Amino acid sequence: MIKITPMLIGGEPTLAHNQATFERLNPLDGSVASRAAAGTAGDAVAAVEAAAKAFPAWSALGPSERRRTLTLAADALEARGDAFAAAMAAETGASALWAGFNVHLAADMLRDAAALTTQIAGTVIPSDIPGSLALAVRQPAGVVLGIAPWNAPVILGVRAIAVPLACGNTVVLKGSELCPATQGLIVQALQAGGIPPGVVNFVTNAPADAAEIVEAMIAHSAVRRINFTGSTRVGRLIAMSCARHLKPSVLELGGKAPFLVLDDADLDAAVAAAAFGGYANSGQICMSTERLVVDNAVADAFVAKLADKLRTLPLGDPRDNSKGPVVLGSVVDMGTVARCNSLIDDALAQGATLVCGGRADTTLMPATLLDHVTPAMKIFHEESFGPVKGVVRVSGVEAAIACANDNEFGLSAAVFGRDVARAWSVAQRIESGMCHVNGPTVHDEAQMPFGGVKGSGWGRFGGAAGIAEFTDLRWITVQTAPRHYPF
Ligand code: NAD
Repeated sequence: MIKITPMLIGGEPTLAHNQATFERLNPLDGSVASRAAAGTAGDAVAAVEAAAKAFPAWSALGPSERRRTLTLAADALEARGDAFAAAMAAETGASALWAGFNVHLAADMLRDAAALTTQIAGTVIPSDIPGSLALAVRQPAGVVLGIAPWNAPVILGVRAIAVPLACGNTVVLKGSELCPATQGLIVQALQAGGIPPGVVNFVTNAPADAAEIVEAMIAHSAVRRINFTGSTRVGRLIAMSCARHLKPSVLELGGKAPFLVLDDADLDAAVAAAAFGGYANSGQICMSTERLVVDNAVADAFVAKLADKLRTLPLGDPRDNSKGPVVLGSVVDMGTVARCNSLIDDALAQGATLVCGGRADTTLMPATLLDHVTPAMKIFHEESFGPVKGVVRVSGVEAAIACANDNEFGLSAAVFGRDVARAWSVAQRIESGMCHVNGPTVHDEAQMPFGGVKGSGWGRFGGAAGIAEFTDLRWITVQTAPRHYPF
């Protein structure tokens, strides 16, 4: 009998008040991977109220106390590395490699947030009023609602709450229906770090109830910030709800990261980065390389080298690493297989060529590369969010930039070229929140300003940018001398 993953409300492991639960099935073999509390709108409101009750004490704590708790939580998270790997393999089909990276970066995010507690600084502003001491002060905003997806479940669950907590806010984390047990381990680690009751709350829900419980929380007067990581489709719905209730949001949405290979690129370096950025976690990363934009001068050589590399990537059951580490585990569901198959069919019907891989009939999808992709094909525009990538051949830098920017999204990008000054000038003209010269599109570090433009959302997590998102900047004056009034 699988243990039920409870919610966490006011420091208490809590089942739904009507006792309802839901199951997540293993994407590879259909066995029950986890069973979790199917919270209702009433449960979600209880979580917000627990966070509101805990806010005065947590926000009044000195920075060293918050720093200590977040640092201990980082250690506790790392200590659960094996449990995270088992839960991620069971719930999302992720490889041990991907799980290890998740735990490592998530622990870094907690430690970086811990360090930020003493960096939440204000300024003294010169005033024209004699004797007026004018200060701009950053104060915690209140209750922060964080909504996380499944694909990098530890990183994105932790990211949703770490900097908000460091700033003195209390939080409600709404986990993904696809990985409640994995994200339940995050709140266990925070509890092990000694987080006081109510400072972190955790809500899970059956898939059909997501819209209702999210709306109930956004509408609650105690919720002052919302951060959402997930698809652009749902991000739009969240943005509309936030607009109705006049709540600021941080939206980290989908991507279609372009990877530019200029005519002077180091092709071995570009191939290594494209294989990693395109196929890590089977391409199910928001920053995954999605569109390979390659100069005609080097396209034949680049495609041949990349295909050679992709054919060697180990594919298999992520729970079985007996023949060496699996790189491509199971994709998250058969919906992903159907979407990727249809992108392949559409591209081939319109003249693309299949270089390696191909259609799949199980969630074990091979690394697939299509060449001669054009804007007429769906894969040119749509996020595959799977291990299926297209090469678009272009001539010259201007065509490469135009192709990169012919894109609804704007999260990450990469440019490969030995003339770094030229590659830098290309990077500056790409419409994306992040761009890496001679590095992969998949690159995240806790302290960096992470986020997108266009259909990839708005707002930034990480470092000083995160402090700005999750605090209120207030202007406070102290009149230190008699003040003159006109009447
Ligand atoms: P999703 O949008 O389906 O789900 C994300 C969250 O939204 C879940 O917690 C879900 O319960 C909730 N949700 C679903 N329907 C809702 C509704 N109607 N109202 C309110 N909430 C609702 O995304 P997903 O499939 O879990 O994740 C994959 C997507 O996330 C991809 O598009 C990927 O690019 C994107 N993503 C973006 C980033 C980033 O940092 N920009 C990171 C990872 C993933």
